[in-house]
Amino acid sequence: MLEPWLFGTERKLLDLLGSGRLPHALILSGTQGIGLQQISQSLIAAALCQNPASDGSACGECKSCRLRVLGNHEDYHELSVPDERASIGVEQVRQLCPRLYTTPQRAPRQVAYIRAPELMTPAASNALLKTLEEPPVRTLLLLETHALRSLLPTIRSRAVAVEVAVPELSIARSWLQQRFPAVSAGEIDLALLLSGDAPFAAAGNLEPSNRALHAERIARLHSALFEPTGVLRWLRSERAQVSLVRALLIRLLAPDPWSTQRQLPVHAAAIVGLTQQLNSSSLYRANAALWRAQAQSGSGLREDLQLMQIMSSLRPIQSSA
Ligand SMILES: [Zn+2]
Repeated sequence: MLEPWLFGTERKLLDLLGSGRLPHALILSGTQGIGLQQISQSLIAAALCQNPASDGSACGECKSCRLRVLGNHEDYHELSVPDERASIGVEQVRQLCPRLYTTPQRAPRQVAYIRAPELMTPAASNALLKTLEEPPVRTLLLLETHALRSLLPTIRSRAVAVEVAVPELSIARSWLQQRFPAVSAGEIDLALLLSGDAPFAAAGNLEPSNRALHAERIARLHSALFEPTGVLRWLRSERAQVSLVRALLIRLLAPDPWSTQRQLPVHAAAIVGLTQQLNSSSLYRANAALWRAQAQSGSGLREDLQLMQIMSSLRPIQSSA
């Protein structure tokens, strides 16, 4: 059985598949590190299976299931960004699409699984769009994305989007506590905060080396925000790691649905408390400076100066608090 926050969506999709009501094109979306691949794999297996179980899941034993496990199924096609490239190219889509109009060899239908479709080039998106406009009869097109809003609106409008929400804090917390019994509740809550509450991503944050790194960064960020000369000293010590700390700040400034329920370590709680006291104009200034810094990242502009600007937009409310 899938993880508790994935199970409901998996169930819904398997039911639709079993009753013949699954849309021909699906977009599965959710935060990075939430586990979308698990739902995709379960749905793909069921869609290819020749003899699904009564609950709609794949039998795991038929010829089709065995070929899929071997990675050798003629009715299964996967598109993703090639290792040496940064996008899915039009030639990849052009190779795939005509095959989807042919009769499946063995499975009840063909399955095309497109990972990170937001990274298709414009030409690739347009090529796929043609297939979405005239969908092949016995084919499931499954698009899996962490960036639904980056997909072309024309693609979004021709597929049914299914969004997987992050779990309740208590569910994510107990799932992580089982995996990391020696880690404190505060560190677990911090890992979740820094990963946008996506449990698998939080589990990565809880690996010992990452945990130590986060703790150190948070402590430095704390002294930068709460001591009068902190910003300058911190910038001197942290210069080489500006982009990482900026990522941390962006996460801490984002709206936090569980803000009152988290049991954060002292330094992190203080920073979160500070960001929550922001009035709308200083929040706006800090956010604008962050986005500007993000957009100009790698452009050669002094990142430490940009961060200084962000920090200074945070400081006034802190001294008035
Ligand atoms: Zn099977």
